[in-house]
Amino acid sequence: MPVNIAACQSILSELNSKNVTLVAVSKTKPAEDITAMYALGQRDFGENYVQELAEKQAILPHDIRWHFIGHLQSNKVKYIAPFVHLIHGVDSAKLLQEINKQALKNNRVIDCLLQVHIAQEETKFGLNEMELNAIKAQLPGLPNVRVCGLMGMASLTDNREKIKAEFLALKKIFDAFNQWPVTIRSANTILSMGMSGDYQLAIACGSNMVRIGSLLFGTRNYGAV
Ligand SMILES: *Cc1c(COP(=O)(O)O)cnc(C)c1O
Repeated sequence: MPVNIAACQSILSELNSKNVTLVAVSKTKPAEDITAMYALGQRDFGENYVQELAEKQAILPHDIRWHFIGHLQSNKVKYIAPFVHLIHGVDSAKLLQEINKQALKNNRVIDCLLQVHIAQEETKFGLNEMELNAIKAQLPGLPNVRVCGLMGMASLTDNREKIKAEFLALKKIFDAFNQWPVTIRSANTILSMGMSGDYQLAIACGSNMVRIGSLLFGTRNYGAV
């Protein structure tokens, strides 16, 4: 299925008017689809497989801001450390330490979001508030990472009230995060929350960055990859 240009343009202008950053989630999609979105002015793209991201980065324009939105294993940080724009799913101190180490090797600071566990399902990754505070205490010792905000994923459910409650819970944790001293976080902060099925609800609940894939690129066919 080709990129839906009309849908892309209307989502882009909707998000623009609300000052919400769009991360176009291009995982499993060919480079041509990214090029089509790029031609519309889109520069932020999200991927969640390290190898796929590294391959696409090598052949696509270098002003693309690549977001890593998947579950990142510590031993793979080195492959994306030279170029990644923002790592969304940091869910352990160990991973953050490895990002700091690889960032230092590349002589840069890597921007990260801490992933908070908001879904009631067991399967979703993320930190609880206690783990979040444990990471907060470590940040002064990790000068090559910059924590820019939080990321979360709601339960996979049609129950809007449940999704809304989870988003509002994350917004509350984000409000507390915004009280952290600016010496250990970025000045402008990001709340990455909302995907194709729930992005409008997420924005209503305070999100300022949404990760949208299938609405832009069509449904994914994992079998073909
Ligand atoms: C795939 C993915 C998305 C995009 O999902 P859609 O429902 O296709 O918009 C967003 N966030 C993460 C973490 C993903 O893995």
